[in-house]
Amino acid sequence: MTIPPFASTHEPSSTARTDADRDAILVDPGFGVHFTDHMFLAEWTDTAGWHDARVVPYGPLQLDPATAVLHYAQEIFEGLKAYRHADGSVWTFRPEANAARLARSAHRLALPELPEEWFLGSIRALVEADEAWVPAGEEKSLYLRPFMFASEAFLGVRPSRHVTYSVIASPAGAYFPGGVKPVDIWLSQEYSRAGAGGTGAAKTGGNYASSLLPQQEASAHGCAQVAFLDSTEKKWIEELGGMNLYFVQADGSIVTPELSGSILEGITRDSIVQLARDRGHEVVERRVSIDEWREGTADGTITEVFACGTAAVVTPVGSLKWPDGQAVAGDGSAGKVTMDLRSALVDIQYGRADDPHRWMSRLV
Ligand SMILES: *Cc1c(COP(=O)(O)O)cnc(C)c1O
Repeated sequence: MTIPPFASTHEPSSTARTDADRDAILVDPGFGVHFTDHMFLAEWTDTAGWHDARVVPYGPLQLDPATAVLHYAQEIFEGLKAYRHADGSVWTFRPEANAARLARSAHRLALPELPEEWFLGSIRALVEADEAWVPAGEEKSLYLRPFMFASEAFLGVRPSRHVTYSVIASPAGAYFPGGVKPVDIWLSQEYSRAGAGGTGAAKTGGNYASSLLPQQEASAHGCAQVAFLDSTEKKWIEELGGMNLYFVQADGSIVTPELSGSILEGITRDSIVQLARDRGHEVVERRVSIDEWREGTADGTITEVFACGTAAVVTPVGSLKWPDGQAVAGDGSAGKVTMDLRSALVDIQYGRADDPHRWMSRLV
C-alpha cells in the first residue's frame, strides 16, 4: 500500500545541508544525533480541533516558560523508521499500528487523538521533503519521531487546551555496526518502570524519566539495559526500559510476558509473535517470573533470551545480572532462533523478503 499525500503547507529550509554535508553524515549517522532539514508541525485547540498542518525548516521551538508540558509532562511519542529498498523506493513498517498506539497513549494522557490520516500524512509529508536523508545500506534507516505535547501556557492542573503535534527525523546507522552482539541486562532491585493503573502501557516521556536512575545503576554495573519487574509483587518480568522480552525454550516454544497493563505493547513484539508462529514455533503470552528466568537458564529449559523494539530490532540478551549473581542463557552467545527471527523481520523491512502480512507501506 502507498500512503496517500496529505494537505500541508511546505516552507523549504533556506539552511538545508549541502549534498556533500548530508552524505558525510549518512556515512556514520549514529542514533539520534543528526536531524533532517525539515520538521512537521500541527496544532490542536479545544475550539478548532486539529489544524495548521505544515512542513517547516527544522529548528528550535519557542516555548513560554509556563508551557504545561514543562511542568506536568503531558506528552506522548512514537518511534518508527523509513527504510530504503534496493530499487531506491522508501517504505515504512506498520505505521497504522503506530497511529493506533499514539491514539491509545493520547487517551491515557488526556491528549486529543490524532486521526490516522493525519498521522500517516505527517510521516509521508516529512519523508517526502527530506527523502535524500533516508540512507541506503545495511540496516541504516531514517528514524521518525512523532510526538505530541501540552503547549498551552497555563500552570493550573487540567488537560491542556492547546496541543502541538510534531514529527522530526534522524538518520540512524546499524544498531550493531560490528555484527549483532548479546547485551548484558541489570535486574533492577529497587525500582519499577510503571505501576498498576499508571502509564506503563502509554508511550510517554515520564516512563523514560523514571527509568533513567535504574539505567545509570545498570551502566555502573557494566550492563546496557535494565529489566523491570512488576511493582506489586516484584516477581513478574515486565520488560526493559524500552524493549519487550522473549524466552526461547528447549522444546522450540517461545514465551513472552503477557500484557499486564503496565507493559508497553511493542509493534516489534507483535510482529515477532506472528513471524515465530509462521515459522512453526508455539508462542505463549503468559506471566513469567524472575525465578523462572533464573532457574530456566540454569537447568537449560530456557535456551535463548532476546529483547525487541524498533530502534535495535531484535537484540540477544547474553546475561541477566543482579548484585550477587547472574543468569546466562545457553552459552551467552546470540541464539539461532533469535537470529533467524531477526533476519526474517529485517528482510521484510528492507524489501529482501516477501511481505505476507502486508506490513510495509510505501512513502516515496
Ligand atoms: C517503544 C517501546 C517499546 C518497543 O515498541 P516498538 O513498537 O516495538 O518499537 C517497548 N517498550 C517500551 C517501554 C517502549 O517505549
